[in-house]
Amino acid sequence: MANQSPDIETEPESALETALRQLSAAAAHVDTDPGVIERLRHPTRVVEVSVPLERDDGNVEVFTGYRAQHDDVRGPYKGGLRYHPEVTAEECVGLSMWMTWKCAVMDLPFGGAKGGVVVNPKDLSRDEKERLTRRFAEEIRDTIGPKSDIPAPDMGTDAQTMAWFMDAYSMQEGETTPGVVTGKPPVIGGSYGREEAPGRSVAIVAREAIDYYDKNIEETTVAVQGFGSVGANAARALDDWGANVVAVSDVNGAAYDTTGLDTHAVPSHEEQPEAVMTYDAPNTLTNEEILELDVDVLVPAAIGNVITADNAGDVLADIVVEGANGPTTSTADAILEEMGVPVIPDILANAGGVTVSYFEWLQDINRRQWSRERVNEELESQMLSAWDDVRAEVEARDLSWRDAAYVVALGRVGAAKDARGLWP
Ligand code: GLU
Repeated sequence: MANQSPDIETEPESALETALRQLSAAAAHVDTDPGVIERLRHPTRVVEVSVPLERDDGNVEVFTGYRAQHDDVRGPYKGGLRYHPEVTAEECVGLSMWMTWKCAVMDLPFGGAKGGVVVNPKDLSRDEKERLTRRFAEEIRDTIGPKSDIPAPDMGTDAQTMAWFMDAYSMQEGETTPGVVTGKPPVIGGSYGREEAPGRSVAIVAREAIDYYDKNIEETTVAVQGFGSVGANAARALDDWGANVVAVSDVNGAAYDTTGLDTHAVPSHEEQPEAVMTYDAPNTLTNEEILELDVDVLVPAAIGNVITADNAGDVLADIVVEGANGPTTSTADAILEEMGVPVIPDILANAGGVTVSYFEWLQDINRRQWSRERVNEELESQMLSAWDDVRAEVEARDLSWRDAAYVVALGRVGAAKDARGLWP
C-alpha cells in the first residue's frame, strides 16, 4: 500500500516535484498507456511575460508573469492566477497539473492551468494592483480565452482582481466577455457561492470523512491552519454543522479554545487581514503547534509544504483534510500513511472552487444567473459523487485517498487521450 518509503533526501520539494512523484505513485495502480503517462509529465506550454507597472510615485518597475497550461484533453484549460513573491514557472507547472487532476476527479469538462505574477500584493496599492492586473491581462490575452483557458482567483487575488481582468480583456476584444475568468463579483456574471465554495467543499469532504471513520460530527474536534477564503469558510461550515472547531490560525498564530471557538466572530482574512489574534481566546498557539494539535480533523488551509518530513511524525490528528494546494510533501505523505492517518487530498477536498467556477462559466455562457441555493445544492451533489468515486477506489484497491483520487482522475484523462489519439 505504501507508495514510497520516507526519504528526507527529497526535501525541500517543489510543487512540480511533488506533483510528479504523486503521478508516478498513482501510475503504478492504473493500466493507463505509459505513453499517456509520459505526455502527462509535461505541460503543453508555459508562457512567460514581462509586466511593466508605473508605481504611484511615477517609477516604472517590471514584474514577471506566467501562465502554465498542462493538459486540455477534456476541455479548456482552467485554473487560478496567484500574486505571490515566490511564484515560479516550475511552481505554476506543478499547480497546473493538480488542476488537471482536480477537474478530472470532479468530472468537469476542463483541463489544468495555473499562472501568476511574481509580486508581493501587500506591497501594492489598490491602484497599482489594478494597473498590474490590466497589463497582465493584456500580456496573456492571446494565451487565454473563454473557450481555451479560463483563469480564476488563487493566492493573493480575489473577485476584484477578476473584475479588472475581465474588463481589460473585454475592452480589448470589443465585447463584454464574462466567461473569460471565473470568481468575479456576481454583479458582472460571477456566481453566488463561488467565494465560499473551496471552503465549503473542504467542509463537505471533512464531514463525509468524519462519518466514514465512524465519528460523530458533534463530538469531533477540528483545527484549521489559515483563515482566508478556504480556511474560514471551511471552519464556519463545520462549526455550523456541529463540529467543535478548537483552533484557527493566520500568519501571526492561532486562537485556541478547547471548548470551541465562535468561528463567525473570528475575523477572516477578507473581513480584516491578519486579525485572528484579536479574537479573545483563552489560549494561543504558533503555526507549528496547530499542526501538532491532538484533534480529530486537521485542515491545513494556508500555504503549500507545511506538513513535511520534519513534522509529519508529530501530527496527532486522526484525519487530515487538505484545504491548501499541496500542503503535504511526498515524504510527509508516506510518513502519515505509515502512521495510519488518512489524508484527504487537495484535488478532491478543495475542488469546490473550480466546481463552482464551472457553474459560473455555464451561467456566463447562458447569460442566466443561478440562485445561491441552486449553486449549493449542485455543489453538494457534485462533491458527494466525486467522494463516492474516490471512496470506491480506496475500498476496491486498498489505496490511500490521494492515490485513489489520482486513479479516478488518471482513468478519465487517460480514456480521453485514448479516444482522441495522438495527433498527427
Ligand atoms: N485557484 C483555485 C484552485 O486552486 C480555483 C481554480 C478555478 O476556479 O479555476 O482550485
